[in-house]
Amino acid sequence: MRQVIRRIRESGRSHPLGSTIAMTLVRLLHIRGDSPRELSCEGALRWEDEPGKMGKPTGLEWPVNPGEARNALARILLAHDPGAGQIRKRTRNIGRRLLGTSPHIREPDFKAIHPGDLSLLFAAYDARFLDGHCGRLLGPDGLTFRLSRRMTRAGGKTTRLRAPDGTNRYEIAVATSILFDGFAAGDPEVTVCGLTCRHRLDALQRLFEHELVHLAEWLCWDESHCARSRFQSIAYRLFRHRAHTHRLITRTERAAMLGITVGTRVTFHYRGQRLRGRVNRITKRATVLVEDPAGERWSDERRYIRYYVPLAELQPDRHGLGFRA
Ligand SMILES: [Zn+2]
Repeated sequence: MRQVIRRIRESGRSHPLGSTIAMTLVRLLHIRGDSPRELSCEGALRWEDEPGKMGKPTGLEWPVNPGEARNALARILLAHDPGAGQIRKRTRNIGRRLLGTSPHIREPDFKAIHPGDLSLLFAAYDARFLDGHCGRLLGPDGLTFRLSRRMTRAGGKTTRLRAPDGTNRYEIAVATSILFDGFAAGDPEVTVCGLTCRHRLDALQRLFEHELVHLAEWLCWDESHCARSRFQSIAYRLFRHRAHTHRLITRTERAAMLGITVGTRVTFHYRGQRLRGRVNRITKRATVLVEDPAGERWSDERRYIRYYVPLAELQPDRHGLGFRA
């Protein structure tokens, strides 16, 4: 077993997807996002310290008879219904185990996440909901995980990469920006897949479940569409998803809730001083222009210094003096 784990670890390090220039990228989802430039393969191996409790890491029984595994997976997808109680129990257990095992996800409203966490989720969900068939069909190198800061509208994305020799690899990406922008005090209720999420971990699990259904559909039928009835039936029976949309707070929404848009006059604290300026751009942070003789000259002939300020640290400046820019 140790040898197998070591072999998979090594194959993860020198992942063949490093040379994917010749690969054809097939977009799978309704989601537009950035292309999978950075790929990581952590391997679904962190359960090794307690095998049996979460099921053994998937992929270790590869190669398998793909026809048999595909039929078995299709039977689960088309007919299996664990029941609401079991689904709740299994998903909560997966969440608790992730909290207990991940070096990054230490609390339900976690502050950090790593592609390896997605790998842990995959191993756990595949073992508990799909009898490990996805891992068997994918083999040790068939799936990679990615966190995307640049996906700002969609919560997740599953992508198939087809090599010139016809073999397929898959990538599951999760949008960290959306996860981390949500769940601040006072935010409206967050729902993902039609289910209320109490915290980031709930949202992560619901997003991941949605992507897992995409992956499983692709493995069985070579296509996947979450707007179609087969997908929705699977997502309902296996996870009680009621919708294929998410409702998370995006950055722009958060900024708008604070009354801050481009052009808003704001104040913020910087090294003990209270500065006044105007929002010029909103991305991960707000770019605020503060008038300063030492700054660069703008088109209005005035000089401004740019500050990059987290949105939460900005206060709308209701009484500030306007300035031209
Ligand atoms: Zn989808």
